[in-house]
Amino acid sequence: MDNCIFCRIVRGEVPSRKVFEDEDIFAFHDINPQAAVHFMIVPKTHIASLADCDMRQQMLLGKMLGLATQLAKSQGLDDGFRTIINTGRIGHQDVMHLHMHIAGGPQPLGAMLPRPR
Ligand code: AMP
Ligand code: ZN
Repeated sequence: MDNCIFCRIVRGEVPSRKVFEDEDIFAFHDINPQAAVHFMIVPKTHIASLADCDMRQQMLLGKMLGLATQLAKSQGLDDGFRTIINTGRIGHQDVMHLHMHIAGGPQPLGAMLPRPR
């Protein structure tokens, strides 16, 4: 996907503050953080949304979730964090490349993560 912003970040064409990378996964800090620590875990391959996934992606989806705690701890989130996957129009997904938000910090988060609309 030539113009997908997260594909461009994965390819290194757009700068990001990298948290982690392996052959399948890239993680980087959100440019507009909604919590003291806020980063995203994305697949390197372009998948638009969780709504495009089924059991064929179970290994990749499991890997994203399986990395969440390790990467959260690497960012100092030792006492919990929130995972969010916004999906489609109803889920207010802005960037159409599957991503899992990890958010946390020293204080408990609000019930949801409000964002200006
Ligand atoms: P969502 O609403 O779940 O699609 O979230 C998309 C997220 O991507 C937002 O939190 C944005 O701040 C973030 N974002 C957009 N562009 C960039 C970028 N170039 N680098 C890092 N994060 C970005
Ligand atoms: Zn993409």
